[in-house]
Amino acid sequence: MEPPGIFYKTWEVKLMLVDNSGKPHSLKSNKTEGILKQLKIHREFGSPAVSLLDLYLHEARALKFFPAKDVFYVMEKRAKGLQKQLFGYDVLPFAHGKDDQGEDFGIFSLPNPFQPRHARFSLLRPVRTEAKGAFLELAQYLSAFAESESKRLSKPLGFVVVTYCRVCRGLCLIHKRDAVCCYRCFTPFTGRSTLPALHDIQLSKYLKK
Ligand SMILES: [Zn+2]
Repeated sequence: MEPPGIFYKTWEVKLMLVDNSGKPHSLKSNKTEGILKQLKIHREFGSPAVSLLDLYLHEARALKFFPAKDVFYVMEKRAKGLQKQLFGYDVLPFAHGKDDQGEDFGIFSLPNPFQPRHARFSLLRPVRTEAKGAFLELAQYLSAFAESESKRLSKPLGFVVVTYCRVCRGLCLIHKRDAVCCYRCFTPFTGRSTLPALHDIQLSKYLKK
């Protein structure tokens, strides 16, 4: 059982790229059937609430409204499959913008008319089951780590992320304003990406039509 006042949930995260004509491209072959299989693995592992989170990264000038027609078809197909299996579905449209001087001003999203405080759109809520098995053991282990580590570091538990450092093979507790790197060996957690800087992304160069 989950402790009182605590909710566990897991997301399978997929990245879709949307070009300036509004066409979606997935980086790998992300077929809906394959995604459903991956979500079932979360459920069998013991997660009580399983959702798909689709990140729609738009080319610099492509994010004026959401979803474009072709993106809508992908979302509709996925939503039907997810609903049948009682999984949740969230989508996050975003883009990396440049101002009139060509300066990168970072990531932006669209205002969400249904949930103004969230950039993420929740299209389907997952049906909650009981946290169990290996998932529950892992969640309890991470909770205990977060509590003892926040005491050791003398930092209050607020919005924190527990992450794993592959170099020193240990867990780290990252607070909101902390640098995103391991505090033992200083390895950055933002791994190497095969993508260019997001604001210079030219999808046509990286995707086969
Ligand atoms: Zn480390």
